[in-house]
Amino acid sequence: MTALIMIFSTVSGFLITNTYYHRVVKERNDKKNVEIAKTIVKHIEETPQLNLNEYLQTISDIGYQLYVVDASGSESFYDGKYRVKNLDKSAVKQVLAGRIYHGMRDFPRETFVTGFFANELSNTIGVPFKYESRRYALFIRPDIKLLFSEVHTLMGGLVIATALLSLLAMLLVAKMLIVPITQLTAATKRIADEKYDMQLNIDRKDEIGQLAASFNTMTEQLQENDNIRKEFISNVSHDFQSPLLNIQGYAGLLEADNLADEERKNYAGIIQSETNRLSKLTRQLLLLTSLDQSSRMVKFKDYRLDEQLKACINKYRWWLEEENIHLHLRMEPTMYRGDEVLFENVWDNLLTNAIKYNLPEGEIHIALERQDDYTEVTIQDTGIGISETEQAQLFHRFYRADASRTKEGTGLGLSIVKQIIELHKGEIHVASAPGQGTSFTIKLPNL
Ligand code: ADP
Repeated sequence: MTALIMIFSTVSGFLITNTYYHRVVKERNDKKNVEIAKTIVKHIEETPQLNLNEYLQTISDIGYQLYVVDASGSESFYDGKYRVKNLDKSAVKQVLAGRIYHGMRDFPRETFVTGFFANELSNTIGVPFKYESRRYALFIRPDIKLLFSEVHTLMGGLVIATALLSLLAMLLVAKMLIVPITQLTAATKRIADEKYDMQLNIDRKDEIGQLAASFNTMTEQLQENDNIRKEFISNVSHDFQSPLLNIQGYAGLLEADNLADEERKNYAGIIQSETNRLSKLTRQLLLLTSLDQSSRMVKFKDYRLDEQLKACINKYRWWLEEENIHLHLRMEPTMYRGDEVLFENVWDNLLTNAIKYNLPEGEIHIALERQDDYTEVTIQDTGIGISETEQAQLFHRFYRADASRTKEGTGLGLSIVKQIIELHKGEIHVASAPGQGTSFTIKLPNL
């Protein structure tokens, strides 16, 4: 690429310089050389005792190519190794007649030939002069061989050295760029094979450094997600496995012929409750999956939140009575905009937890309040409570606090609750102390 850029730049540079020569320099060069030619012939004409041949030879030695011709057509060249001797006869005639020939100015313009270097007899300045009463025409142009002085050689050397060094430097830079990209490619392949143990060791401040840093962050995140996924699968398998084993075991026991009615009922009851647990687990998992899919559209709708809460409470009245739990409600008619079906799961989970983890003769306080910007629901119980360390993990999937293991449950409820609330841009906070009860506060922005 560098070589190509250099070639392209050189060709473009040459074309630009060439245009500049033809537009500006050519005219000036012509003028300057006319002045020089005039000075030469002036000296010839003003010095009668001059040896013309010697004088012209000296001038040519200084750095000019000369061509002298007289009316009879006899011509002499002084250092006149013109590459092309293409001077028109009419030009000679014109000079002999006393006019000046502007070959430099009128030199034809060609794209790839800079007139400055064209060593042609027509690319000269022609002036007339008289010597020993005879008419002559003198054509001159600077000898380009002499123009290539030491400065030019140094300049040429500089250009070549710059080109070579640039190429070398570019190769090094390219290598520096390619090494981390190769590392990145290898790392990407490992990730495609689900191996996340690799951290890139690229310590750079540039864009590639930033890319490597983002890549490392991404790898860490993928590793974490992978761990969560594996843990989730192992939890799900375990939670399916134990009720299935129970069902299998009790179904086997039911097959026995000499089974008392009491025992038969007992076993069938266990099988039924285990099937219920499996069914609940499946429902919750399906709900979680649908919540995880960002494509699931939350169906916003205005509805009466207080009525939804009351309906939920009514569903569990029998249970409240069975457990002898006193319910205190503080609700005002409240309109809320959200997904009604999803919120049914929220209240169901929170209320059943408040009953399940309550103490006999306990209390549940439910408050609903609508402020200007948000709606707040508090569900408070006087149950077993949750320790501070356990509160931190409460909303994790499959998490169940030790004290509650005796009760039935999946550990998925609160994670579903949190996810639904977050889908509505709300927050859920827990305040609890073991033995004193728990209070969940939900703040939902009014949309
Ligand atoms: P589960 O199906 O076990 O109830 P949740 O996700 O609803 O699952 O709750 C997770 C855990 O949080 C429960 O197992 C329990 O330990 C604790 N928990 C939830 N609500 C309460 C509460 N009101 N009082 C005490 N502990 C609670």
